[in-house]
Amino acid sequence: MRIDFITLFPEMCQAVMSESVIGRAQKSGILEVNCHQLRDFAFDKHKRVDDTTYGGGMGMLMKAEPIALCFENICEQTNERPHFIYMSPQGKTLTQNRLKELSQINNICILCGHYEGVDQRVLDEFVDEEISIGDYVLTGGELPALVLADAVARLVPGVLSNDECFTDESHFNGLIEYPQYTKPIEWRGKEVPPVLYSGHHANVEKWRKENSLLNTAKKRPEMLNEIQLSQKEKQFLEENGYNIK
Ligand code: SAM
Repeated sequence: MRIDFITLFPEMCQAVMSESVIGRAQKSGILEVNCHQLRDFAFDKHKRVDDTTYGGGMGMLMKAEPIALCFENICEQTNERPHFIYMSPQGKTLTQNRLKELSQINNICILCGHYEGVDQRVLDEFVDEEISIGDYVLTGGELPALVLADAVARLVPGVLSNDECFTDESHFNGLIEYPQYTKPIEWRGKEVPPVLYSGHHANVEKWRKENSLLNTAKKRPEMLNEIQLSQKEKQFLEENGYNIK
């Protein structure tokens, strides 16, 4: 997968994407990340990337032309036109399901907004999708873009090692994950559930499935309305004090 960032702060994006699991994926060649400085595409007299808004108002807006030129430049470098995403609090809220779909795409380009946002015309002309990371407003699109890039990259085959596999994790199958424990077996009087160190794989699996259900019912009960529970699962939850319709 190739991910391109269009940003006023390429060093910020590069720094985050160079660390840990994602940095390792770049080194191994599974992932290519390019962070483009939008100012390099400002060719007007004053090399401006922002200007005042028509109709008045306090803030500045990102100009259309540098964004268009930067995206066109990226298109020339890639075999296929990248799927172009604008990070915006007006977009659809990012979900694990959307991330699964995005992880199938080879080229993704992410536009990080700033100031009051971006001239609507360049969004209408080029952007395929607006994505929000939640119903709140940040000062810029870099953090949201990094959230998206990290979350999508880890779903690309080979990015995570086997022991970091994502299929058991929260939100992958509409549930949240079961509780987890590491050494020691006893910590300040609290013990790890014995089944987890019994060595009985089928029982461990059963415990994890049940506790994933219980954890979801306890912490995120609304998620259970979005999935199809079996009669057995409903009964199990009822026996544990959760009334599922
Ligand atoms: N005036 C815009 C509005 O009301 O929709 C908000 C602009 S915000 C201050 C500046 C930039 O931060 C946006 O262009 C966007 O790229 C990014 N941003 C802020 N909050 C975001 C969110 N919740 N999700 C994704 N991007 C966000």
